[in-house]
This record gives sequence, structure tokens and C-alpha cells, in this order.
Amino acid sequence: MKKLTRTEVYKLRRAIRQLARKKGRGTELISLYIPPGRPISDVISMLRQELSTAANIKSRTTRKNVMAALERVIQRLKLFKSTPPNGLVIFSGAIPRGPPGSERMEIYVLEPPLPLQTYLYRCDNRFHTEILEQMLSSLDEVYGLLLLDTSGASVSLIRGSHVEIVKEMESGIPGKHSAGGQSARRFERLREMEVNLFFHRVGKWANKIFLSEDRLQGIIVGGPAHTKNEFLEGDYLDYRLKDKIIAIIDVADVDEQGVKQALAQLSSILKDARITKERELGQRFLSVASKSPNAVAIGYDEVLRRMREGVVDTVLIVEDLSSVIVTIKCNNCGYHFTKVVEDPTQIRKLVEVPCPNCNSYGLAISGEKEVVDAVLEEADNLSIRVEIISSSIEEGVILKKAFGGVVAILKWA
Ligand SMILES: [Zn+2]
Repeated sequence: MKKLTRTEVYKLRRAIRQLARKKGRGTELISLYIPPGRPISDVISMLRQELSTAANIKSRTTRKNVMAALERVIQRLKLFKSTPPNGLVIFSGAIPRGPPGSERMEIYVLEPPLPLQTYLYRCDNRFHTEILEQMLSSLDEVYGLLLLDTSGASVSLIRGSHVEIVKEMESGIPGKHSAGGQSARRFERLREMEVNLFFHRVGKWANKIFLSEDRLQGIIVGGPAHTKNEFLEGDYLDYRLKDKIIAIIDVADVDEQGVKQALAQLSSILKDARITKERELGQRFLSVASKSPNAVAIGYDEVLRRMREGVVDTVLIVEDLSSVIVTIKCNNCGYHFTKVVEDPTQIRKLVEVPCPNCNSYGLAISGEKEVVDAVLEEADNLSIRVEIISSSIEEGVILKKAFGGVVAILKWA
């Protein structure tokens, strides 16, 4: 089976997110999942039956839309000689663009990245994308990170290149006492009991979080002191998890700060992990940008121009970039221009000002395209390498905040 590249997965994920947001006016959107091995002809005859059932739908608009959606699916299926190796997913239906009557028929045909296990036919007011979403998240490698000392602990999951602190705990245990004699010994005993209880609590959470990840590939345990070893020697962590420990590291903190420190050390432990690759790509850009600023391109306009000049080696895009390229046209004088907007909720404001050419209030939005889609499309056409950088790692945050989220390393870097 062909393994999807990270960019392909990213594209698929975006497409699914966009599909999941679409809403129908009534229960008239069709989702169809066909597993491999299921003959197309069987599916077509099933859909023909649905078509005759749909003829009884009372609402005239819904009936019309459902039947049209079904017919589109049947037409599409006829183009397939046989079911593709991983099966086939089709979404079809009338999507409203404004008031009633503005619906337009849309159809999406996807080949899933892994073989589909079940057949599904649904007619609803939305597209059922859950199966594909689950499939995509199963493509990610997962690592566990447990940081602890006697003051507190945190349990995190590294999923692909996403880092999530799932649970943070404070122990409430006071620091070592300095008084001597009888009371000091009693204090010490009490403290030991408290540490033991805290370890149990940490173990319980770690077991709960890590054992529910069936794709967990390894666990990294860290902390500032010897505490982590005492924890591991004791009977706190499930034996199945103990087998998965791939590294024990020293970090100064156990909170968010500690997680950052741990990630900085992980590149040598998780050499081939996605998160390491993304961090290295981000660091490479930052280092080139500081040493030879002429060897990078920053921002959508420059990146696009450099791509067309044929001098781009790699484009880096920060994953959750939401910038939109808006085309604006003046209805009065015909003047038009484009503008990149970082926050999509601000798009409407662009037309609330007078036309820069004729000064009348006639501006209207004539087109919208996400920067990510525009860059990916251009890169596809020109066969340029694109890498997606997660915004949950520090390099991603810097790329987004300081460089706008779209950059490129040029060939002479
Ligand atoms: Zn104008």
C-alpha cells in the first residue's frame, strides 16, 4: 500500500474539515462509504432503490434535492470499473449559499488512505466524515511523555507533531524539613507516605491516558531528580507501559516548561518521528533567515513570486494558517484588487470602505481563497516540495508570529 506523505494527509484533513462544516437545508446530504471488494454494480442497484424510496418524500424541495444527489452519485459510480483497493467515499448534496433556492449540487469523491472496513449509506443534514477522521488520526504515531518529581507531574501525548498536556497534577507535598530529632523522623515518614500516595495518583493517570492509546509507540519519562527512578522502580506504572519506555531524561521542570525542555532532547531519541523532522525544518529556515536573508522568501506574495521564478527549494506552511486571499471588485467603476487577510472574520470589513479608485461605496467581495490552498495548488503545478509545520511546536509558533506562516527556503541556501 502506498503511504501518504504528510502534505497529502494534511490536504485530506483540510478537505474533510471543510466537508464536515457543510450543512444541508434538510436531510438531503448523502454520505456513502464503499469498502473494497464490494461490487460497484451492487451499490448502484442499492442507490436505485433509494431513489424510488426518495420519490415518496413529502417536501418537494427535499425530494428534488435528494433525488438529484442520488443521481449524481450513480453517474459518478458508473465511471468506476471496479471498487478501488481501499474502497471509495462519496459525499453528494445540495449546499445552500444563502436564502432558499440558492442551493447548489456538490459532489466529492475520495479514495481513503486505508482500506474501509464497513459499508455506510446515510442521508442527513450534514456529511458523515467521522470514519475518515478516525482513519486519518490512526495514521499518526503516538508517544507518551510523563514528567514528575515530588512537587508535581504532567502526562502528555505527542500525536504526530502535536503535543498535548493531557493531565497536570500538583502533589501538595511540602519540601524537605530541616528540623532535627524525633519530629524530623516523624515528618520524614509522613512525607514518604504522601509521596507514595502521590505516585499512585500519577500512576493511575498515566495508566489511564497511555493505555487508552492503542497506537502508543513509546513512552519517555523525565523529571529533575531521582524521583522518576523511584517511581519507575515502584509498582505504580502498568507493566505493559513499563515495556514501552524508550528513554529516561533529565528536565528541570514538570509543567509546560518541562515539556518544552523534553521536546528539545527528543530529536536524538525520536530521530525519525514527525515532530523531529518538523522542528529541524523550522530550525533550518530560521538559521538560513538569520545568516543569509536573501536565501529565504517570507509571506504569501514573495513565496508565490519566488516559486514562479523557479528558485524555491522548500515551502514551509504553518498548519493552522487561516489567512484568506480576498478579491474585491467595485460595482461602480469595475476596479478590482486582492488583499490577504489573516483573520477571516475581518473579511466583511474590507468592503465597508469607499472604493480606492472612484471613492463610491460600491465594493463587493468577488472571490475568496485560503492562502494554504493557493500555495499548495501552485506548488503542485510546479512540483515544488511543501512541508507542513505544526503550530504546537515552538518553531511553528515563531514561523507564524514572526513570519506570517508561509515561508520558503530558496535553492541557493
Ligand atoms: Zn470604484
